[in-house]
Amino acid sequence: MLSKILYSVSKNKCPRCHGSDVFISKNPFKLKTFDKMHEKCSSCGLLYDKEPGFFYGAMYVSYAIMVAWFVFTWGVNEFFIGVSAFPYLTFLGLSIILLMTPTFRISRLLWMNFFTRFGEEDKTILK
Ligand SMILES: [Zn+2]
Repeated sequence: MLSKILYSVSKNKCPRCHGSDVFISKNPFKLKTFDKMHEKCSSCGLLYDKEPGFFYGAMYVSYAIMVAWFVFTWGVNEFFIGVSAFPYLTFLGLSIILLMTPTFRISRLLWMNFFTRFGEEDKTILK
C-alpha cells in the first residue's frame, strides 16, 4: 500500500488508477503552471477536487513536511556541521522558498491519497 502511495506522489499520478497525471505541468518549478491540476482523471474519472475546500487539508500536510524539514536541517547542522544561527537561518529561508512549490504538490498528492486508495471502486453517485 505504501509503495502505491509513494508511486502516486512521486510520479504525479492519479491515486486510484495511476493512469494519468494529476498536475498538468510535470515541472514543479514552473511558477506559472505548478499549481494547475486536471479536473479529473482521464483514465478512471476520479474527481480530484472532491468538494469545495477539499485541499485546505493539504495545508496541514504541507506544514508537517516543513516542520520535518526544519527538524532535519537543524539536526544535521547541530550534530554534523555546526554553523552559527545566521548562516543556518539564511540557508533555511532560501531552502523554504526553493521547496515551496514541490511541497505544495506533494502535500496535495498525499492529501488525495489519504482519501482514495489504489484500485478502490468508484463511489461517485453522480458522474
Ligand atoms: Zn485514475
